[in-house]
Amino acid sequence: MDMLPLVKAARVGVPATAPEPCIPSQLVWAGATIRAVMAMTVVGHPLAQHLLTQLRDVQTPPPVFRTIAKRLTIAIVLEAVRGLPAVEVEVQTPLERTTGRLIFPDIVAVPILRAGLGMLEAVAELFPEVSVGYIGLERDDVTLLPTSYYEKLPPIEGRHVLLLDPMLATGGSAAGACAKIEERHPAEIRFVCVVAAPQGVDKMRREHPNVPVFTAALDRDLNDRGYILPGLGDFGDRLFGTGSDSGLPPSRRP
Ligand code: URA
Repeated sequence: MDMLPLVKAARVGVPATAPEPCIPSQLVWAGATIRAVMAMTVVGHPLAQHLLTQLRDVQTPPPVFRTIAKRLTIAIVLEAVRGLPAVEVEVQTPLERTTGRLIFPDIVAVPILRAGLGMLEAVAELFPEVSVGYIGLERDDVTLLPTSYYEKLPPIEGRHVLLLDPMLATGGSAAGACAKIEERHPAEIRFVCVVAAPQGVDKMRREHPNVPVFTAALDRDLNDRGYILPGLGDFGDRLFGTGSDSGLPPSRRP
């Protein structure tokens, strides 16, 4: 197994040329080598990277940010749904009968509030019959630990869950949400984000090694406020036009 792309990505903050299922893999982070057993896919498609670059740009205003976030989510979800159960069917074209494949995905999309909402429309557009549940987790700015303030989930048992949260930073929210969903015995959980940090990937690997992560980038690090570097700032604030600092250090806040 060639581990180089992911190691390179972790070092220099650029995504590996992908899609790259990295199982098992190594992350080089803060001088330590972490052996990962979790599957991670970095969607390196040029269009995904083009959209990600626009999202990262501090000049991108909220209405454009929302549109691009949706398009990028579609690109990542296309990878995330690979391998879902499909059936072979016969169809009549205007000219003749042929066979094709239909996926009958019993999918539950669970956005983690509030930033995950920016990814939900993309999933609902791709899978109009998707069931949707919500988990509200707030990160304490001091402890950086998630606290739950809302949970509304449809039946989960035996179903395929796409867990949506754009920024896998410390991994606290993602791991907390996985724990809540796993209590309900899904067939599987697939975690879909836009940018991941090595710390979050490592937490998922340790606490939920059976949950694959799909992302457009594996970034370099976290700052002391838990924001991803280079990242794109506060996804929720940029999506909804709230907040004024978007994770910038005090010296660079408007
Ligand atoms: N949440 C965000 O919105 N951005 C980060 O960089 C980390 C967590």
